[in-house]
Amino acid sequence: MSSYFLPRDRVDELVARLLQSAEVIAPKRVETGDVFYSPVSSPAEVAWDYKTAVEPLKRFLFPQREPILQFSREEGKLKVEAVLEGKERIFLGVRGCDVTGVAVLDAMFGGEIEDPYYLAQRQRATFIALACLEADEHCFCVCGDAGPFLKNGYDQQWIPLAEGMLIEVGSEKGQALADAHQDLLSPAEPEQVAEKLQLAKKAEESFGEFRSYIAAAMRRLTMAETPDEVWEKLADNCVECGGCTFLCPTCSCFTVTSREEGDGGMLERQWDACLYPCYAREASGHNPRGEHPQRLRARFFHKLSHQWAQRNGRHACVGCGRCVVGCQAWAHMSAATEAIRRG
Ligand code: SF4
Ligand code: SF4
Repeated sequence: MSSYFLPRDRVDELVARLLQSAEVIAPKRVETGDVFYSPVSSPAEVAWDYKTAVEPLKRFLFPQREPILQFSREEGKLKVEAVLEGKERIFLGVRGCDVTGVAVLDAMFGGEIEDPYYLAQRQRATFIALACLEADEHCFCVCGDAGPFLKNGYDQQWIPLAEGMLIEVGSEKGQALADAHQDLLSPAEPEQVAEKLQLAKKAEESFGEFRSYIAAAMRRLTMAETPDEVWEKLADNCVECGGCTFLCPTCSCFTVTSREEGDGGMLERQWDACLYPCYAREASGHNPRGEHPQRLRARFFHKLSHQWAQRNGRHACVGCGRCVVGCQAWAHMSAATEAIRRG
């Protein structure tokens, strides 16, 4: 695929053009200094200098709560309609771990059983990743094979060089976008590619001591070699708040509820968490994962076992570190992989 160079003084112009063609979701700083992926209305709102966003991209493609079916009764007949919403969106300046998180959701919602609600949003989305030049304190995307620079999985990847952006094209959609704005771009020069390689090396060196033992955990979970005590100890720590699952870019458990209004109503789906005691409870009252250690084991098996990796094309942790930041206990991904390795 092609690579281009966008001079620094033309970046805002290109962003302004993108804003005219679609809704642009980009990193935006709020008063507290935190950064959230949010709709922006001008190039000045894009926080290019951020490290990580508080929340992943999941809520734009798989909202926390969304209507899926609308029903009404007309002249005694029941009318049911699917609510399929999707709009043209460009996700600009989003981190590699989050773009890779979308690839995991794609496998979940676009695999053997297609989810039309997710796909309605996904098919109209364009992803412009922004390579990370320096790791944040809790990041471990190098262990999760999801950054800091991506090899694929994006429509475009932008790399901030000293004099502008190196733009790598990763898909036909990304190429079409580059073609539409050729007047602002020039083909990348060998020195610019060399500068990128230096930045990538520096970025990889910026990861501190923080690690996640994903390879060891994958093998041991797959071979069922983890003793029960590991899960019991993790369950002693975990308070089942669900924070890790809601912050995770790849967690996709949901439940469906109905709401009646007058002669009609709505079926909605909303995020759920496999760590919650009621998640797997069946109508008979039987709960195959009634005990907390079993639920933790199931969660990490789903994230890291070879069975799931084979099905989804990769394991389901991108090393974004959000569960580490959000967990009040010592039961997040990094703690769990360490416990599994030592177990
Ligand atoms: S398990 Fe934790 S580190 Fe891994 S993708 Fe989810 S939130 Fe990020
Ligand atoms: S692992 Fe941590 S964040 Fe997740 S449910 Fe348990 S206490 Fe909450």
